[in-house]
Amino acid sequence: MNEHKNALMTNHYSRLLDDLRNRNLFRRCRTVSGPQGPKVTVDGRRVILMCSNNYLGLADHPALAQATSRVALDMGIGAGASRLISGTMELHCELERRLAKFKRAERCVLFNSGYQANVGVISAITGKNDVIYSDELNHASMIDGARLSRAGVRVYPHLDMERLDNMMRTETIEGRKVIITDGVFSMDGDPAPIRELVELKNRYGAQLIVDEAHATGVIGPGGRGLVAQYGLEESVDVVVGTLGKALGSFGAFAVGCTEIVEWLINTARSFVYTTALPPPVVAASLAALDIIEQEPERIEALKWAASYMRERMANEGLNVENGKIPIIPLVVGNAQKALDFASELLEEGVFCQAIRPPSVPEGTSRLRITVMASHTRDHLDRAIDAIAGIARKLGVIAK
Ligand code: PMP
Repeated sequence: MNEHKNALMTNHYSRLLDDLRNRNLFRRCRTVSGPQGPKVTVDGRRVILMCSNNYLGLADHPALAQATSRVALDMGIGAGASRLISGTMELHCELERRLAKFKRAERCVLFNSGYQANVGVISAITGKNDVIYSDELNHASMIDGARLSRAGVRVYPHLDMERLDNMMRTETIEGRKVIITDGVFSMDGDPAPIRELVELKNRYGAQLIVDEAHATGVIGPGGRGLVAQYGLEESVDVVVGTLGKALGSFGAFAVGCTEIVEWLINTARSFVYTTALPPPVVAASLAALDIIEQEPERIEALKWAASYMRERMANEGLNVENGKIPIIPLVVGNAQKALDFASELLEEGVFCQAIRPPSVPEGTSRLRITVMASHTRDHLDRAIDAIAGIARKLGVIAK
């Protein structure tokens, strides 16, 4: 690249970045030193972590670390190839069997992340003649999967089953209809109406894909998720989950009937064309499943923390609903206010990032507060006091 071209390029990106800064949408990665516990070190200070998806506190659990180290020493680090070449190792198969059982499904296939799972599953299942019905607040990975599929995409208002019914009823199409939804919505912490979605799916001969990234290990019997909570495992065509959040590890999976999973193995491009998960990481997920099965009290601790945090925040006059889901949105409005809130909070020893567009709709910038099973009551009390104090100062108190 010659100098002239280089300067043009630099100017182009500087201008774009300046524009992001001017709109308070510039982002940077904050670095955590040390492990991902309930308190972390940020900029050399110990602060309470209130924005992680490490819901069960397994990310730094010794059993996961031991399983990982053991497998690393015995088997090495890399899988060396994609799953369909020579990358499938016994551990991958074992984890797939365990996850299928956990989710009460016929079959399971691993993906390398939840992002890749959604992109791969949605684009493999839908094509040009099909229509995808997508909740307006679905995660970016579902949106990208829908875009990649080349199917028609109809976005329905958040959780609005009447509108969805109307849209599905009035449209005649050549191909198939497929509904896609987050199980627990990532930025709002509200659950999708699974029973109604299954009814609509049945009424219109459609398929239903549910992303349980924030439900797996968090809600439902034994942490088996939202679909399991309704006992509707057999009525949902594909359930996607991640291993990177409550399970404290990395990777993801999709479960469904044998035929669908074999179709995914054959055609989901984010499965076919990528190196298999590293065996030590797979071992960590197996250890995490053991813990979830053997220590149900962890999920209870998470539910307690969510209820406690929500109730106390509401008592402070904040606009927060009761419930047991650990994602607690505190909408503050514009991006600058959310940034100010987050930086004051960090000053007071609580780490919770501001979430801004395009992760959330314009005008709904927020703190996305999350609790973990590893938070003590004292952590939560201190976080609530800090949040309530700043909310008052910035005029965020609702009541
Ligand atoms: N789906 C949802 C709803 C998510 O919130 C996320 C992570 N932010 C993902 C999928 C992606 O999962 P992963 O982090 O494993 O890529």
